[in-house]
Amino acid sequence: FQVPKPKNEPIKAYREGSEEKKSLKAKLKELKNEQIEIPLIIGGKEVRTGDLGKCVMPHNHSHVLATYHKAGEKEVQMAIDAALKAWKEWSTTPWEHRVAVFLRMAELLSGPYRDILNGATMLNQSKNVFQAEIDSACELTDFYRFNSYYAYQMYTEQPMYSPQGTWNRLEYRPLEGFIFAVTPFNFTSIAGNLPTAPVLMGNVSLWKPASSAVFSAYKLMQLFKEAGLPDGVINFIPGSGGKVGNPVLASEHLAGIHFTGSTATFQHMWRTVGTNISKYKSYPRIVGETGGKDFIFAHASADLDALVAATVRGAFEYQGQKCSAASRMYVPESIWPKFKDMLLDEIKTIKMGDVEDFTNFMNAVIDRAAFETIKGYIDYAKDSSDAEILIGGKCDDSVGYFIEPTVILTTNPHFKTMEEEIFGPVLTIYVYKDNEYEEALELCDNTSPYALTGAVFANDRKAIEIAEKKLTHTAGNFYINDKPTGAVVGQQPFGGGRASGTNDKAGSLLNLLRWVSQRTIKENF
Ligand code: GLU
Repeated sequence: FQVPKPKNEPIKAYREGSEEKKSLKAKLKELKNEQIEIPLIIGGKEVRTGDLGKCVMPHNHSHVLATYHKAGEKEVQMAIDAALKAWKEWSTTPWEHRVAVFLRMAELLSGPYRDILNGATMLNQSKNVFQAEIDSACELTDFYRFNSYYAYQMYTEQPMYSPQGTWNRLEYRPLEGFIFAVTPFNFTSIAGNLPTAPVLMGNVSLWKPASSAVFSAYKLMQLFKEAGLPDGVINFIPGSGGKVGNPVLASEHLAGIHFTGSTATFQHMWRTVGTNISKYKSYPRIVGETGGKDFIFAHASADLDALVAATVRGAFEYQGQKCSAASRMYVPESIWPKFKDMLLDEIKTIKMGDVEDFTNFMNAVIDRAAFETIKGYIDYAKDSSDAEILIGGKCDDSVGYFIEPTVILTTNPHFKTMEEEIFGPVLTIYVYKDNEYEEALELCDNTSPYALTGAVFANDRKAIEIAEKKLTHTAGNFYINDKPTGAVVGQQPFGGGRASGTNDKAGSLLNLLRWVSQRTIKENF
């Protein structure tokens, strides 16, 4: 049994008049009118609690896509029991069979499930077609294929040396207990990766998807089932953070947490684990990717066309709702006037609206809470004497949660919007003096507690070297002359340090190793 090194899933263009566009359009129509009621799935069985939540379309919030049942303490207990029951068989299933399920998931996702997942992601999370395609179709398929390949490498390459007369083995055992996967709204690929990566290594999981993305998460559950994942291996328990999280974190069988979401939630969970630590059978593995305050740093030698394109894409694609989105920028005085004109001209061309019009570059932000938070930051800048709104700033929630792409210029490098994560289409720029390049890099390094992604634009080789060195710990994903978003599985494994997470790179051998407990065996002949 061999798993060849995969290539990335090619991105489809959905051009006007193409068959692929027609087919996706038809699926969008179907999904919009499905009006399903989503159950919990525990041990493969549908469970209904009657405590209902709603999935709406952010760009047209009066349109309800689906309702879903929310889990409470009782269902959490049922899910734990179901997971532990499934563990017995799944944890001893040969890895080749587990990999086979994942490779089947990749085939389904890149084939018959492509439109379903793209469509659900577009409608439920207000992503344009390109953003959905690179997420739920390509990135998730890549996670399944590359993780399968890394698992194959791990299980087939015995790293231990055995002197004559002995047999030394390193064995990768699944963790004892269950993994709690908590996933965000912004990437269906992350939703599809966090509960599954531990499962590939023989674990079982409880999965709490983001309340604002339950519709697309449920479609993933259907994909897992169709691919042949046994009942109870992944248990689907949407619901409120506290009602689901507290009983899960209090279980003695909690073996790990696989999380992407806010820094505050991650820290809260970690604290809760600390409080409960003596209850657990084993120390839970905690893996998390959290916030970011990602930068673009321009040197005077930067190529301005590339810089403008990267800034617009890095800051405003998917309405800036990526942990990796560029949200603070440093530009030297010498290029600022020209760059400013070019940037503003480009932003003026941005089209924003419904996801069904494939020409829209931006859509709505996820929900009312996000809308209010982002608007709060914009209002703060409007009222401040050390900042000025250069473009955008309009927020309109009458039909959907729309926020214009907004650029703030500040004279204060520690201005609130330079330091805090906004998670919306808001970029703050600080202009530095050309002869203070190194000081400005130092400022960039210590302005924010986060360290997820960042980009430097320069053509001067020396300037690149200095930036790479000065910003060693400022970003887990560091880009030179490219935008700080859009990491590709198998090419730039993703994750950051400091307050941005444990940096156990999504879609990597390192990540898979967090989900096994090694046993060394020595046998004498
Ligand atoms: N991996 C994504 C990127 O590189 C970001 C993921 C996230 O927002 O958590 O843009």
